[in-house]
Amino acid sequence: MSTTTTATRRPSTPQAGPRRRTISERSLLMAVVTGAVATTVLWWHDAMGMAGLGDWLTAAGRLTGLYGGYTVAVVLLLMSRAPWIEHGLGSDRLARWHAMGGRYLISLLTAHALLLTWGYALTSQTGFLAETKVMIFVIPDVLLATIGFGLLLLVGLVSARKVRERVSYETWYLLHLLTYVAVGLSFLHVLSAGADFQTGWAKAAWIALYAAVAAALLWYRWLVPVRDALRHQLRVAAVVQEGPDVVSIVVSGTDLDLLGAQPGQFFRWRFLTARGWWQSHPFSLSAMPTTGEMRITVKDLGDHSRDLQGLRPGVRVIAEGPYGAFTPARRRGHGVLLLAGGIGITPLRTMLEHLGPETGPVTLVYRANQPEELIFAAELEELARSAHVEVHYALGLPGGDGDVLVGSRLGDLVNGLAARDAFVCGPPRFMEAARDSLLRCELPARHIHSEQFTF
Ligand SMILES: Cc1cc2nc3c(=O)[nH]c(=O)nc-3n(C[C@H](O)[C@H](O)[C@H](O)COP(=O)(O)OP(=O)(O)OC[C@H]3O[C@@H](n4cnc5c(N)ncnc54)[C@H](O)[C@@H]3O)c2cc1C
Repeated sequence: MSTTTTATRRPSTPQAGPRRRTISERSLLMAVVTGAVATTVLWWHDAMGMAGLGDWLTAAGRLTGLYGGYTVAVVLLLMSRAPWIEHGLGSDRLARWHAMGGRYLISLLTAHALLLTWGYALTSQTGFLAETKVMIFVIPDVLLATIGFGLLLLVGLVSARKVRERVSYETWYLLHLLTYVAVGLSFLHVLSAGADFQTGWAKAAWIALYAAVAAALLWYRWLVPVRDALRHQLRVAAVVQEGPDVVSIVVSGTDLDLLGAQPGQFFRWRFLTARGWWQSHPFSLSAMPTTGEMRITVKDLGDHSRDLQGLRPGVRVIAEGPYGAFTPARRRGHGVLLLAGGIGITPLRTMLEHLGPETGPVTLVYRANQPEELIFAAELEELARSAHVEVHYALGLPGGDGDVLVGSRLGDLVNGLAARDAFVCGPPRFMEAARDSLLRCELPARHIHSEQFTF
């Protein structure tokens, strides 16, 4: 089934808030490559006069170790939640870069350990196992670094797709915190045993790199959220049932417009209840903040989101953000299609609120299996009344007779689709089907913007 509402709405009010500086993907890549070149120069400086296979293996081991140490710094910086990185790349892409960086890191450090041990074993004419013992128990700080490497392997293991699908987010997150312990344990051996750090400037540069990353982590992950919590004094104001297993949580506070949230963005929310204070979960704004209120809408998808259904007014809240680059700023074409599957309506609801007539035609296609699952119906009707906006409700099971994502039905439904931008949000299989459908309708891939609700 598909129902349609067409109407005109008034232009949206621009949001107040600080102007955000961002870094583009290209500039960030160039910065990372420049750092890698500097790391190679550091290695080259000390790589002269090699004689024989043992020396070459040792040199290769040192180089992979240096690249590994540099990759650790880059991966941690990417996850520091610095707004100029989060807003420039978006959390989806950042998570992909982080995962890719993690895989490189494990490979580099494994190569580092094997090549160095093999190289030293050849040079000192001992066996591989005997040399392993010497390295771990005689060379200063290598035992600690080996324990750190073991912890990193554990983190890598729980991040592998097959394992990750079986562990809860909380377990995955807590094990990820071991990365900090691993980095701390490994740091000393780089300075005490690393042949490349015998000169003062090299040591100072390496310490400065790690100090800068540690400062970014401390500032953006811990101090800024605490500062914002004190500044904005957030509390749960109301919990409103929107549909089966879905509630809106209205959070009150002061000067919330100064947070500078953009439509489509999300915060990481920590509700200070006895059970939930220790975990923060991402939820998109489902209405743009006013000075005194903001709102999220949460579907019961697991233990934490179930607890949130029973929140009481008055509970204190810490909101970290805003984050994400899934915003109308990504537009390239004329006109917009907002494609929502189930609870994926939340960020698209704020975009619909924001997109004015200057955007061109705006169409929301909102898909759900059952009519009861549709939320915000009254608000969507209201938004659709004041500008040139179309809202289509597409009901029914995926692949069924009325499924808009089958064949090129979307192209028939949405005028001028190929020139528009599409913003897609919903469950993973919906996102895949939506992307395939949009490509079939000849929408260029660079006009398709999406946000995953999974980690
Ligand atoms: C950018 C973003 C925006 C989101 N916006 C909304 C929203 O507006 N409304 C809504 O209902 N849901 C939203 N989600 C999903 C929401 O974060 C999860 O449903 C919620 O965290 C589930 O936690 P749980 O403990 O209840 O369930 P669990 O059983 O622990 O997890 C259920 C699924 O949710 C995902 N998940 C769990 N915790 C997290 C986390 N901390 N970070 C990322 N993914 C997690 C996992 O993929 C997991 O498979 C969003 C997710 C992301 C990444």
